[in-house]
Amino acid sequence: MLRIIKKWKNWIWRKRYYFFVVLIANALVWAFCLPDQLFNEPTCTVLKDKNGAILGARIADDGQWRFPPSSSVPKKFRAAIIEFEDRQFNTHWGISMRAFIRALKQNLSEGRVVSGGSTITMQTIRLSRKGKSRSYWEKLIEVYMATRLEWRFNKEEIIRLYASNAPMGGNVVGVEAAAWRYFGRSADDLSWAESSLLAVLPNAPSLMHPGKNREKLKAKRDRLLRRLLENGELDEVDYELALEEPLPLKPPNLPQLAPHLMNRFISKGWKGKSIQSTIDKDIQKHVINTVNVHHRRLMENGIHNAAVLVLDLENKTVESYVGNVKNKDPEHGSHVDVIQAPRSTGSILKPYLYAGMLNEGSILPDMLVEDVPMILSGYAPKNYNEQFDGAVPARRALSRSLNVPIVKMLQEYGVPKFHNQLKKMGLTTIHRPSSDYGLALILGGAEAKLWDLCVAYGNMGTILNDYAIGFPNEPVGFSSLQDREEKGSFDYFLEPSAVWETFNAMLEVARPDDDANWQTFETSQRIAWKTGTSFGFRDAWAIGVTRKYVVGVWVGNADGEGRPGLVGVKAAAPILFDVFDRLPKAEWFPKPFDNMSTAMICRESGHRASQICENVDTVLVPSTCLKTTVCPYHQTIYLDKTGSYRVHGGCEMVHEMVPATRLVLQPIVESYYKTKHPKFKSLPPFRSDCDSEQDNPIALIYPKKQSTIYVPLTFDEKKGNTIFEAKHRESKATLFWHLDDQYLGETTGIHQQVCQPKPGEHTLTIIDHSGRSITRQFLVIGKE
Ligand SMILES: [Zn+2]
Repeated sequence: MLRIIKKWKNWIWRKRYYFFVVLIANALVWAFCLPDQLFNEPTCTVLKDKNGAILGARIADDGQWRFPPSSSVPKKFRAAIIEFEDRQFNTHWGISMRAFIRALKQNLSEGRVVSGGSTITMQTIRLSRKGKSRSYWEKLIEVYMATRLEWRFNKEEIIRLYASNAPMGGNVVGVEAAAWRYFGRSADDLSWAESSLLAVLPNAPSLMHPGKNREKLKAKRDRLLRRLLENGELDEVDYELALEEPLPLKPPNLPQLAPHLMNRFISKGWKGKSIQSTIDKDIQKHVINTVNVHHRRLMENGIHNAAVLVLDLENKTVESYVGNVKNKDPEHGSHVDVIQAPRSTGSILKPYLYAGMLNEGSILPDMLVEDVPMILSGYAPKNYNEQFDGAVPARRALSRSLNVPIVKMLQEYGVPKFHNQLKKMGLTTIHRPSSDYGLALILGGAEAKLWDLCVAYGNMGTILNDYAIGFPNEPVGFSSLQDREEKGSFDYFLEPSAVWETFNAMLEVARPDDDANWQTFETSQRIAWKTGTSFGFRDAWAIGVTRKYVVGVWVGNADGEGRPGLVGVKAAAPILFDVFDRLPKAEWFPKPFDNMSTAMICRESGHRASQICENVDTVLVPSTCLKTTVCPYHQTIYLDKTGSYRVHGGCEMVHEMVPATRLVLQPIVESYYKTKHPKFKSLPPFRSDCDSEQDNPIALIYPKKQSTIYVPLTFDEKKGNTIFEAKHRESKATLFWHLDDQYLGETTGIHQQVCQPKPGEHTLTIIDHSGRSITRQFLVIGKE
């Protein structure tokens, strides 16, 4: 015997190098037997709200509901799976002899293989080696690799890999996907009964067929619950209640609450990832419901699409993103994310102009702006109600969205400057040069995205909020991602006081009856808001701002079809107010006192008061506005002793002249202004011996006094042009021509105005820059 042992010893000693090499080789194979990435399968894209609730999930490319791996394993599921599959999991090194022996005993007593004695670690390896047959050799590989896996990862990481990749019946993979698919909740929120069901499933995923094997599956679950009770994981009461819980029925569909936001993320490289967004699920649901209710009403009028965006001003985040409405008919373009689509702006840009002009100090809120018929480079803007007020305060021009005064304001501000301002405010779709847009830029000649518009309003709100708490202003990006800062392109050039005045002008909710389509909205909080309607009734906009939120609404047809009644106030504003109604209320913005100065303002003209203005108010205005011009409307005129006639030095003795202060408007302005202001006093006429034309710098050459005009005909029998002609004492003077209160145009230097008057009586009025005018009546006779 001793001899045999000695012989072996010698043999081993002689072969010791071979043993050593085999040992090293084995160690090397073992060290490198695990692939870097155990699981490479594609995963679902999962969009979550700010509290982790699922807003939607997109199935993985291989048709499996496999969620991206989560960072932890739910406590109950962890306890259940360890109890069910591998009680020694926390202590073994990848393999468990006890489990082997137990499995062997079980198999022998049953006379067939009922248990493999695999640990969770071994099963994780098996899951990663998809499609391998269940042979002894394969089992050996699993054992081998499992011990290596235990070296690479800690227990928590191993069980997490297992929980993320375990088959859960049908095309559902992993505990999180199964929890959402079968119970509509996160695995963290599952009960003991639900967690236990998911723990027994990977062992027999085929049992999860609805309608089949229900009793067998329930018995398995209940046996596991019993074991958990015996281990003290749950108490008697919880156990009894758990047994009562039925198995889930047909899996409910996963929510699809923000499909357009999901698409946006996928297009930005978030496919197959779990996306923690800033959306508030409750607000998102409320917005969807609100839009759906209005959608039913709008569809009756052939309007099929709508979009709503809600921004949170405090957190600089997106609270709700509804890119479109669901339509049954795919023709209606429900897939289009209108929040990101450039659409015609209508009047929605007007507040930006108002803010820009306050900012540079070229207007005051109550400053009169002309509202009379006008033609600008062949372009004749009209107000929505087709009426003219003569002159209106700038603030009212904005709140009533009057086109003519706003165009007048843009003309004064300058199209290139406004064009540049819109770009600075982050409007990314103002692509064409400013000359291309012209004055139509303010009336819907441009296109903008609901996103850009809302972010611009959001930044304006931030200017006010930041100023109140003394923070320096920085560009803000509103992001829909919780862990990523999206820098905005908003340039902080607006003064807080300019924003304050703009929002206050947008606050006016009591509007006059003559404003077409006006309707009253019940609201318990202050909301600065503006609507817009594009040319041809193709787009209806409404955007509102409070201290806490910006809500933007677009309504229309994705294919661009216009519909009568597709008007901002009628179609979009009701949605805006219904959305605001359910959002938390907020106080109004704090007034930026430090950014404002007191000024004496003429009550009638809204300009800074001159020495002769009669009613003067002391008010706080944006400090920039201190450089606006003083009131040009109040002028000193001279009357005769009776006070009923005007006189001048050429026809009256100076000591006989009575000075008086009057609001003097241009005749064309006055003629419209009088109709809206019955108390307005026109200037008295000149006394007959003070013929005003004597020292009038304007002289009318054609038509002559009391003349009759025959409209000439061209050789092809078409009506020809009449050419009016005037002269001005100053060679560089500009004259403004009006025929029957319709503005014809202006002339400088050579004063000839081409016109085609219809047969009948007409009045021609020409006004110069200083308000001097000449008026002449004439008769036109057409061809007999
Ligand atoms: Zn005045």
